[in-house]
Order: sequence, then structure tokens, then C-alpha cells
Amino acid sequence: MAPVLAVNMKIYLDIDGVLVGRGRKPAPYVVEFLKKATENHDCHWATTHCKGDTVPVMDYIKGILPVEAIEYCKLIKAIEWSHKKTEIFDYESDFLWFEDAPFEFEKEVLAQHDKSDSLVLVDLINNPNHLRELIKLI
Ligand SMILES: [Mg+2]
Repeated sequence: MAPVLAVNMKIYLDIDGVLVGRGRKPAPYVVEFLKKATENHDCHWATTHCKGDTVPVMDYIKGILPVEAIEYCKLIKAIEWSHKKTEIFDYESDFLWFEDAPFEFEKEVLAQHDKSDSLVLVDLINNPNHLRELIKLI
């Protein structure tokens, strides 16, 4: 059976360790990944660089990601949160959370909502081209 591509999921994106790799270098395939994510889905930031305001996050990535990626990043929305990234998520919707280092307490909240499968662990350290594989999920 052909895989059914879910369109218009909510996608929550961390930056460091997900879009930006070691040495503050853009993750390989970040442009392709962001293009597909923002064209097909409803994307939101889930990063400490953004707590309800996109100005700090755009300032941060401006010096790191290529111009084409920045254009897609402009389509990513900000949501206010305080302590846990899990405050950001819409548990009534299908969503994916791209994150390299979730806290245990965040994983527990996902489990409580029966959303453990929504966590997509990104590992650019062991798999620098990880985004190339993960594009298939979106
Ligand atoms: Mg991170």
C-alpha cells in the first residue's frame, strides 16, 4: 500500500540540533526540509529562541541559515510558553515535534496525552544528513 502523506499537520520545530548543527552550521538539507514543512504543514517554533515573539529567533538564524531557508522560516509561527515545550502543542491535532534533546518531563506530558509517537528525535551528531531521511515524514 502506498504511504498516505499527511498534509496540514502541525509541526513544531526546535532549532539547535535540528535545523542548526554542530559549530552553528546549517543542518544539511535544511532548505529542502523547511520548504516541504512550510508548504505542506502548519509550522510553529518550539525553541528557547522563541517564546511568543519571532524577532529573537529570526535574528538568531539570520546569521546561520542560508537566505532561502530564512524565507521559509518567516512562515513559522510563534507560540508563547514558559517552562516546557509541551505547553506549545495542540493535543487535539495530529502533530510532529522535531527535537534533538527532549526532557524526560516533556516526554511524560506527551505520553499522558497519548502523543509519544509525535516526537521525532533528530540526531545530527550521529547522522549529519538526518533531515534528508526525515523529509519523508512530512
Ligand atoms: Mg535543541
